[in-house]
Order: sequence, then C-alpha cells, then structure tokens
Amino acid sequence: ATEAQEHDLVIIGGGVAGYVAAIKAGQAGLKVACIEKRGVLGGTCLNVGCIPSKSLLNNSHLYHQILHDTKKRGIEVGEVKLNLQQMMAAKNTSVDGLTKGVEFLFKKNKVEYIPGTAALSGENEVKVNKIDGGEATFRAKNIIIATGSEATPFPGLTIDEKRVVTSTGAISLNEVPKKMVVIGGGIIGLEMGSVWSRLGAEVTVVEFLGQIGGPGMDAEISKMSQKILQKQGMKFKLNTKVLGGDDSGETLKLEVEAAKGGKKETLDADVVLVAIGRRAYTAGLGLENIGLEVDDKGRLVIDQQYRTKIPHIRVIGDCTFGPMLAHKAEEEAVAAIEYITKGFGHVNYNAIPSVMYTHPEVAWVGQNEAEVKEQGVKYKTGSFPFSANSRAKTNLETEGMVKFISDAETDRILGIHIVGPNAGEMIAEGVLAVEYGASSEDVARTSHAHPTLAEAFKEAAMATYSKAIHY
Ligand code: FAD
Ligand code: NAD
Repeated sequence: ATEAQEHDLVIIGGGVAGYVAAIKAGQAGLKVACIEKRGVLGGTCLNVGCIPSKSLLNNSHLYHQILHDTKKRGIEVGEVKLNLQQMMAAKNTSVDGLTKGVEFLFKKNKVEYIPGTAALSGENEVKVNKIDGGEATFRAKNIIIATGSEATPFPGLTIDEKRVVTSTGAISLNEVPKKMVVIGGGIIGLEMGSVWSRLGAEVTVVEFLGQIGGPGMDAEISKMSQKILQKQGMKFKLNTKVLGGDDSGETLKLEVEAAKGGKKETLDADVVLVAIGRRAYTAGLGLENIGLEVDDKGRLVIDQQYRTKIPHIRVIGDCTFGPMLAHKAEEEAVAAIEYITKGFGHVNYNAIPSVMYTHPEVAWVGQNEAEVKEQGVKYKTGSFPFSANSRAKTNLETEGMVKFISDAETDRILGIHIVGPNAGEMIAEGVLAVEYGASSEDVARTSHAHPTLAEAFKEAAMATYSKAIHY
C-alpha cells in the first residue's frame, strides 16, 4: 500500500448526494476526493433510477398516445410498431450523457474521482479497493458518507432481475411480459407498472394498504389517480397481502390474500416486480470499526447538521433519515458542505416536493389532508379541476385537479396536491409558495399567463380563500 493521501474531505458514494457535495466542495476550494464503487458516477438516480425510468416513461407514453390518442386530434397514423431495443438504446444514451456530464463537472471543479469500494478504517481514514486493482488509503479532515439505498427484498422470492425483478431489472427487460404482477403500489410500482402496461403488458398491482401512491400522497388525489390508471388498463388489488411465491415453473405463481376476510387467490405472472420500498445501504462500509450507529431501519444516525457522533463524519441522502429523493439528497449535499465551510446550512424539509411521473403526473408539497386533520389544525381546502381549464381543454387532457390546503385562520398554505398534466413542473410554484410562507390569497392574486395549465393552480388558490372564476 502507498502512503496515505491527505484531504480536506473524502466522500464515499458518487450518487446525487455524493457528487453534488463533491462539486460544491470543489467550488469552495476544498481538496476533495469522491469514491464510487459502481465504476460510473451518478448513483442510483442517474444509472438505474430517476433518469432511465423517466426515459422509458416518456417514450412509452408517446407510443401509447400514438396508438390510442391520435384520431380525435386529427392525426391519422399508419402501422405503429414498438422497437423495444431502440427504446432501451435511447434510455442508455440519456444515462451515458448525464453520467459523463458529472465526470466532466468533477474535472471542472477539481474533484478527484476514485473508482473503487471504500471502507472506514479510522475516524479520519478511508481505505479504498480500487476497481482497476490496488488499494489506497486516504486521510481526511472531514468524511461524508453518501452510500445510498437498495431495493427491499421480498421474503421468499429470489430476485434474479429477469423474472423476479426490482426496478433495476424492470428498466431493462428485453421483451414485453404478457402478465406482470407488481408487489407494492408505491411510486416505483406505479411508474414502472405504467411503462409496461403502455407497452402492452397486463399489469396487476398488489398493494397492502387501502390506497396507492406510497407514503404522503393525499387520499383524494390517490383515488383520482387510481381511477385514471385503471382506465388506462392497470389493475389494482388493494388491501391485499402477498403470502408467497413459486418460481419453479414456467409461469410465476403468487399467492395473495385479502387483508380482511382472508380470501386467497393465486396470480400468474411472467414477471414479478418487487417494489415494496427501499432501505439504507451501508454494507461493507466498516461502521463497526469506528462505532457509528444505525437505527432500526438501518439508517445512519445523525444530528441536524448531518453529523454522526464523530462530528467530522457526516451523512446525507438515502442512507440516512428523510424521503428517498434525489432533490432531497442534493439539498443536503449543499447544506453539508456549507456546514463544513461556513458553519451554517439550510434545508426546509416541509418544502420538499414529491412527484410521481405517471400520466398524468401526481405532485405534492407539504401536508396532505389526513396529516393536517391528525394534528387537529383547523384548515380549509380549495380545488380546481383541469376539465375547467382552457389549456387542458385545448390539449384534450382534462383529467385531474389542483387542491390547496390552508390554515383556516391565517390562510397560510399547508399543502398543495396535484394530479394532472405537467403536475411535476407546476409543483415548483407550490414549493416556492410554501418556502416563502405564502397564503392561498398570495398565490391567487399573482397573475398567471393565459392560456396555461398554471391557471388551474391559481384558481385552486382562489377557491381556497374565496371563489374560483371558471368553476
Ligand atoms: P445513490 O444514488 O444510491 O448513490 C449512492 C452511491 O454510493 C451508489 O452509486 C453506490 O454504488 C455508492 N456506494 C455505496 N457504498 C459504497 C462504498 N462502500 N464505496 C464506494 N461507493 C459506494 N428520486 C427522485 O427525486 N426523482 C425520481 O424520479 C426518482 N426516480 C427513481 C426511480 C427509481 C427506479 C429508483 C430506484 C429511485 C428513484 N428515485 C427518484 C430516488 C433516487 O434515485 C434516490 O433518492 C437518489 O439516488 C439518492 O441519492 P444518494 O446519492 O443518496 O444514493
Ligand atoms: P414506496 O414506499 O413508495 O411504496 C411501497 C409500497 O409498497 C407502499 O405503498 C407499501 O404500502 C407497499 N407495500 C409494502 N410492503 C408490501 C407488501 N408486503 N405487499 C404489498 N404491498 C406492500 O416505495 P417504492 O415504490 O419501492 O420506492 C422506493 C423509494 O424510491 C421511495 O422512497 C421513492 O421516494 C423513491 N422513488 C421516487 C421516485 C420519484 O420521485 N418519482 C420514483 C421512484 C422511486
């Protein structure tokens, strides 16, 4: 082994949390190294998460729309054929472009990129098994752990990423399954289920709870979204538990049982997607060498400045508390570097948006109605349907609505929930409103261009503090 290298900061993990922290540290003039074991920067998000899934969502939506939604628009098309290989190639092009882009940004900001697997060997020491052979030891004044998360396995089902898949297999299937069963009706299940349903698979989603969308989604919005997805052909079994699976035959068999009443049935599938959540990933990191703690979910324990009990070792992103979202990881990365270089940082966890990229999209920020109710806060709601919005009507995309929840006394916005076209872009305005502590009247009195979908946003705000004009 060579002599240890001295750094201001060593970052373990080159996902969104790690790479953003590395760039920010480089910009602040720190001598920084980022260690990534995948051999490619960008982590889950760029390689097997946000980016490839959105490529498939976009292109499968276009395909589906050309097949089913052109006639009424006055567009006659001839034979439409799926070229799955090319769709996957387009996905890979997007991923490659973006991961190489991160490598370029590392060079630009003088970040040392070390492809290899890191383990903590001391409070200021990280040992690396390099991908191209050999070992290296780094001595660091500060260490950031950003090792991300992995899919939670389903007990009794062996994941081979071909027939029994996580999202990683689901973004790379080489043919459209006839029947796909999705275990878990959260964000991954609905996004990846949508992709394969649009491409022709018969998709059944089995969800343990009584509503789809995973944690946080407003019940009213969830119901509306489920109805729309059902119309598109997806099937749902809610309040249903998967008892076990059999993968010995040509067709996979899943035994499921209604949570109440206990009615059992067997579902056949060519592909089963396991999407029951993700868990923090810290395997092989050597936490025990320096006594770092994890909670009962395996997440590294930190304080509000992202510090472990060894204060110069910080943790950000999916491997610690909070929602497992790329933009949350990014906010934490910037804040963590600011804590190191300036002593203060800022992340407003009440103003982190969530987006489900189905069609139409679902997006929200702040609290949902059940959460507000549970806290005993007096509140009012206002909503506006896209069917009454001029742009949605011209686009022939009128499904969905915008819903505001605000404090009954102060009118301060507590939550905004959207299901509808472009919800994911529209929610940015909601995030800004929540961040600035706006009231629904503040939004309602802000001019919104006509004709835009964003007018539905304004009118929902109007409906909250007064009355909407067009509904
Ligand atoms: P990761 O991206 O998981 O990165 C951690 C990195 O650390 C990995 O590359 C890993 O190889 C590396 N690593 C681990 N251990 C070591 C070690 N010992 N040494 C060296 N390197 C190590 N979020 C959104 O906001 N929007 C979306 O649309 C979205 N879509 C998603 C779709 C899918 C299918 C999935 C699975 C996730 C999606 N997410 C989305 C979530 C998002 O991907 C994560 O929140 C984000 O990647 C978290 O970033 P991270 O840096 O904390 O972890
Ligand atoms: P999730 O937590 O969103 O949903 C999991 C769902 O599975 C829940 O509805 C849960 O009730 C259900 N479930 C759990 N155990 C079950 C069981 N035994 N049987 C049936 N249902 C069961 O998790 P996910 O969809 O796997 O996504 C993981 C993470 O990745 C999430 O935290 C999400 O934020 C992130 N992600 C985000 C995006 C996005 O931002 N668009 C996209 C994909 C993934």
